[in-house]
Amino acid sequence: MDPTLPSDLDSAFISHAPGYWPRDAMNHWSDYKWQLRNRVDTLSDLAARLQLTDEERAGVLLAGHKLAMSITPHFFNLIDREDPACPIRRQVVPRIEEGWNAPEERADPCGEDSHMPVPGLVHRYPDRVLFLLTDHCASYCRYCTRSRMVSGVGEQHLETQWEAAFRYLETTPHVRDVLLSGGDPLLFSDERLDKILTRLRAIPHIQFIRIGSRIPIFLPQRITPDLCAMLKKHHPLFISIHTNHPRELTLEARDALGRLADAGIPLGNQSVLLRGVNDSVAVQKALVHKLLMCRVRPYYLYQCDLINGSSHLRTSVAEGVAIIEGLRGHTSGYAVPQFVIDGPGGGGKIPINPNYLIDTAPGSVTLRNFEGKFFEYPDPSPMPPAELALLHDKALGRCS
Ligand SMILES: *Cc1c(COP(=O)(O)O)cnc(C)c1O
Repeated sequence: MDPTLPSDLDSAFISHAPGYWPRDAMNHWSDYKWQLRNRVDTLSDLAARLQLTDEERAGVLLAGHKLAMSITPHFFNLIDREDPACPIRRQVVPRIEEGWNAPEERADPCGEDSHMPVPGLVHRYPDRVLFLLTDHCASYCRYCTRSRMVSGVGEQHLETQWEAAFRYLETTPHVRDVLLSGGDPLLFSDERLDKILTRLRAIPHIQFIRIGSRIPIFLPQRITPDLCAMLKKHHPLFISIHTNHPRELTLEARDALGRLADAGIPLGNQSVLLRGVNDSVAVQKALVHKLLMCRVRPYYLYQCDLINGSSHLRTSVAEGVAIIEGLRGHTSGYAVPQFVIDGPGGGGKIPINPNYLIDTAPGSVTLRNFEGKFFEYPDPSPMPPAELALLHDKALGRCS
């Protein structure tokens, strides 16, 4: 095993003991409504459980008007209280650095607001749309790309125009793919989601529906058999989950993902490359291996968007390229996500790859493999006319 790999990152799926809640909380632990009611969302809740640094205390006070803090007990229990740099803690506990906007940062880094034909519907690519169903999540990621509107405490609010959005989809026949996101769509009740999916499924040109959700990680208890049975009626339906660190893949998460996979829902994962969370080959490798064991295919690794107050969580692009180089060829191809940058201002997702194409000369290319060895691959040779004539003669000889 890689010596730099902490012991809890290997293939073990640990169900962490609820060390931060009284023992009788265990009676309610698998009830997702209890999990939602008992989220850690105030400074006093947080300070009662963790010894906060000054940077975190100030971060929580500042977050109240930007992006709310909220952490499900399930996810909170993954925090290592002995480790102030815990990668779980860094994702959900606000820090003072969030209060500073670096000059390259924006409230709307991917230019979504200017690509909304109807409020709540982002139409950037010709054949697919992003449909924002809600501004709420089970827990809030501190690097949220939509922190300008998500959680409802910032200056901007999501005001999805439901009827206008459905009518836009019904009358725009080149849209064949709808991505439901927000916020987290799986926070809606089964009945409400069923109605939305039924209405979308009634549109003949919509072939493919997917849901982006971090609920299987933040609140795996929400993935009930009833929810899976409802989702199953709306195939072909895919789900993209969001996992950044192998420790997030607990026993509960693995079981929840198994229920979704058993309902025939293909699962992909989207990770965000985050400083101090998953910015090493060792952590990424452990993550993608555990994802495959949960029947989840790593889909995208995102360079962190230029969101306001995110500079302490962002890495250089070169670090992301180095991670892909450390994966490609060194592990299963199924385990390697596509590294992408969502073009600042609205370019869409741009794939970023290590350079394996070293040179293109007339007639051949020079390639580099994962071990750094070089290979030539020539273009096809034209068949010489004399060879062609010879083969014609030979064929004629056969038929006489
Ligand atoms: C990410 C995204 C999509 C889906 O992109 P894929 O590459 O097909 O996964 C669609 N619309 C918007 C606005 C997006 O940001």
